[in-house]
This record gives sequence, C-alpha cells and structure tokens, in this order.
Amino acid sequence: MALYVQKYGGSSVADAACMRRVAQRIYDTRQAGNQVVVVVSAMGDTTDDLIVLAKQVNPEPNEREMDSLMATGEMASSAILTMALHALGARAISMTGHQAGIKVDGTHLKAKIQEINPKRIRHHLDQGFIVVVAGFQGMNPAEDVATLGRGGSDTTAVALAAALKADRCQILKDVDGVFTANPRVVPAARKLDEIAYEEMLELASCGAEVLQSRAVEFAKNYGVVLEVLSSFEVKPGTLVREEDEAMEQMIIRGIAADKNQAKATLLGVPDTPGVAARVFKNLAAANINVDMIVQNVSAAGITDLSFTVPADDVAKTKRVIEPLVKEIKAAGLDFDGAIAKVSIVGVGMKSHSGVAYKMFEVLAENRINIEMISTSEIKISVVIRAPEADRAVRALHDAFDMGAAARQPPARKKPAPQKKK
Ligand code: ASP
Ligand code: MG
Repeated sequence: MALYVQKYGGSSVADAACMRRVAQRIYDTRQAGNQVVVVVSAMGDTTDDLIVLAKQVNPEPNEREMDSLMATGEMASSAILTMALHALGARAISMTGHQAGIKVDGTHLKAKIQEINPKRIRHHLDQGFIVVVAGFQGMNPAEDVATLGRGGSDTTAVALAAALKADRCQILKDVDGVFTANPRVVPAARKLDEIAYEEMLELASCGAEVLQSRAVEFAKNYGVVLEVLSSFEVKPGTLVREEDEAMEQMIIRGIAADKNQAKATLLGVPDTPGVAARVFKNLAAANINVDMIVQNVSAAGITDLSFTVPADDVAKTKRVIEPLVKEIKAAGLDFDGAIAKVSIVGVGMKSHSGVAYKMFEVLAENRINIEMISTSEIKISVVIRAPEADRAVRALHDAFDMGAAARQPPARKKPAPQKKK
C-alpha cells in the first residue's frame, strides 16, 4: 500500500462544487488502495480577505493575532473537505496543524517547521482513515498557533511527506504543472516535465508563484520528490527532483517576475567600515529578507546603498532603518515600490557562457533599463521598472527560445530518413 500526501491549493477548493470534486479525487486515490494524507489551503481568496479585514480595523495588526486569524482559513477548509469526503462514504478526519503534531519556531507570520510528531496521523491512517490536515500552520513553543508564510501549505505537505516517509508528495493546483513562464503573461509558455530542486528554488524565490520556496528547500533536504499537477484533470504534471546531467542541456528552464518587491535606498552614507554591517544586522534581527544589494562607487567618501525588500516589509524596514539614518550620519532614506525583479534560471548556465550578455542585450533592444543586477551560479536577476516586467519576460522567453515551438527535445541522433509514400 502506497502512502500519498496530496496538497490542494486555495483555488482548487474555492467553493462547494470544487470541494466535492476534490473529495472525489481523494476518494478515488484511496479506493485505488492507497493511504492518503491531504493538506488543504484556505478556500479561494480567504487568506487575502482576512488580511484586508484585519487592516480595516488596524493598519498594523499584531502578528500573533494575525496568525490566529489566518490559520482559521485552513481549519475551515479541512473540515469542509472532510465533510465532503463523508458524503461520499469515505472514512475521513480533519486535523489542525497542532493536532497533526506540527511544531514550529517562535516567529509569527513566517514560522519554520521544527519538528513533526505524526503519531496521531499514523494512528488514523492505520484505522483506514483519510487524514485531512489544515495547511500553513503549526504550534509554537508558546503554544500559540503560527503560520508558515504565504503559500505555506506547500511546506506543510512536504514536511508531512518527509515525516511520514510518504511514497509521493503531490501538489495539486489550478495549473497543469510548472511552466517556463507565467502562461497568463506569456501565451507561448510551456509546461515542463521536470525541473531540478535548485531551479525550482530559485524560481520560487524570484516570484514564480508555483511553490513556496521553503517547501522546495525542505523537499531538497529530505529528498522528497514533488509532483506539481492539475487538480482539475488527471494527467502528468511536473516532477521536481534532484538534477542530473540531461537537465543541463537546457540553458534556461524558467523566467520569473516578482512585482512584490520595493527598493530602499540609504542616501549619502559615509563610506566607512562597519556601516553596511550595521544596516543589515538590524534588518536581519527584524527578520526582513533582503534580496539584492547595490552600493554605488563612492564619491568624496559618500555613497548610496540600495537594497530590495518584500513590499510587505516596507513599513517594518522604515522602522528599523530610520533611527539608523541619524546614527550613521546618512542623508536620508528613500523607498521605491514601482520596481520588478525579472530572473532567468537554469542549471544549464553552469556549463554555458554568454547568458548574461544575451539577457542584457535583449533588454537593451527593448529599451528596458536595468537598475540592479544580481547573479548566482544558475540565476541572473535584474531590477527594472514594474510596468515593463511583462514585456521583459515575453522578450526573454522568445529570445531564449523557450516556447511551445521548442517543445520537442533536441534530436539525440539523426532522424531516420522518411520513407516516400
Ligand atoms: N492560505 C495561505 C495563503 O494563501 C497558505 C496557502 O495557501 O498555502 O498564503
Ligand atoms: Mg491561498
């Protein structure tokens, strides 16, 4: 008997009809002789709606209370999905993250899973139950509920798959798999059959909203092979797995655009040792994820220091950095929210040269100005003006020949001569 962990995202369980359909699919998996643990997201836009509601009563809601609020979305959907399973005659039981034995650290809003005790899940599986776990949450050392960051149900699923040593971890979505680019932006984008953990990790942290990056990190660390597939149709999706040599054949696997970033600039910073360390120490202490960093060449011992942060963290960044402005004798602090980060990713970059050059040239040909650049072994990111992001992604997708036309893998050997009819 195989053990499946199946995770269903918010749009796959958006209403009663969706719930019934998903329940049927889960039931079919169970009837085929498998044990099933389901992880479910909040229905539709519930999480967004709850955040809006909270901000209507308090523009900067307390983080503990935000967690208590947001966790309810997943609790509701797990109970409703379980009821739908009961209606089909299935034996099923819902659990909160806490009941499922998920322990997290003390950081609210982006807690990390520290330990899972799957005793209760195991017990119910052994009794023949389908176990439906509320995603995105766990219990912290203070015995409070904490959430895992947006998209965190993915991480719940992967972590449970690792803890239960599941045979499969399937992430079922309203898309067919992982695409070369967002199909809503690039009509020619195509579904990938497979992608390496590293690539998925870079894409996820570069704004591709397919999987939460922490989920991929977890999968990589524990060797959990992920399958991203459609929740609407039964057909193969994309496998996320360890890279192999064949994967390097393709130079670029995917392109992502992240519009949820803001650029902070510390103006007129004295160019002396220790300044940057102080700035970034404080940001780290406040749990603010700094991504790109650029320091200008200093003129007369004064420099500008720019870095990007998640748009949601702008207020927090202000609070952390503003008191420092005086202390380090900088001239001021500036925020720019109208930026986008566009990234190209592929393990093939390790063995191919000239990729950065080509990217910059394509952007130049399209008169798109690059404001910041950062690279890793398998990724090149640029910051550009936000309204130009979609155009940039389309142009790059085209220039790197990633579209549907490139669907056929390059022929390994010469094709056999065609017989004439
Ligand atoms: N409901 C949460 C969110 O929308 C978690 C998830 O969907 O994975 O971010
Ligand atoms: Mg959601």
